[in-house]
Amino acid sequence: MNAIAPVLRVAVIPVTPFQQNCSLVWEAASGRGVIIDPGGEVDRLLARAQQEGVTVERILITHAHVDHAAATSALQRRLGVPIEGPHPGDQFWIDLLQKSADEYGFSCEGPFVPSRWLHDGDTVLIGEQILDVVHCPGHTPGHVVFVHRASRFAIVGDVLFQGSIGRTDFPGGNHSDLIHSIREKLFPYGDDVTFLPGHGPTSTFGAERRSNPYVSDAAVRRT
Ligand SMILES: [Zn+2]
Ligand SMILES: [Zn+2]
Repeated sequence: MNAIAPVLRVAVIPVTPFQQNCSLVWEAASGRGVIIDPGGEVDRLLARAQQEGVTVERILITHAHVDHAAATSALQRRLGVPIEGPHPGDQFWIDLLQKSADEYGFSCEGPFVPSRWLHDGDTVLIGEQILDVVHCPGHTPGHVVFVHRASRFAIVGDVLFQGSIGRTDFPGGNHSDLIHSIREKLFPYGDDVTFLPGHGPTSTFGAERRSNPYVSDAAVRRT
């Protein structure tokens, strides 16, 4: 995200009618990358990777909601690369993936099997860049967030948005868990971290700490 000498490059490709921010993230120096949250439109994702000259080495999943994960099986079949994530708490959402896809009219080749489940404190690789895995339950029980400390950049799925937070009215959702995840696990990374949410524009942890009506310092003091 550093305009002068970016270590990682990010292409956001909104997919599905939910305009989910699927992202292609790669190491600038090597062109080695990942696709995060392939909710749909596999052909578009692969075309973009080719256009950017990116070798996709793995698929990362923040959580197993249909708009984030419906095309995981299809993409895995096309690329033959490992799937890393989410946390095992989302197994029941993976089991529901085909049913949810059918309901919303999304293309889905069935539930995927993670090559590697992710847990709090794990790391994942993009090329040789190391990203922290932060388990952030609340929106779903098995939601994970990826943080690249070196470039002050995070991919947070549906945990936190510019001016809002993830829904917690789905099965397995928990509002106080979500607030705890954001305040105690994400904000300590620092106000200067820019994050890409699962929907809508990017923001920074500092901006949300100042003005987000759900998780700002003032909002938390009120409760
Ligand atoms: Zn979600
Ligand atoms: Zn979503």
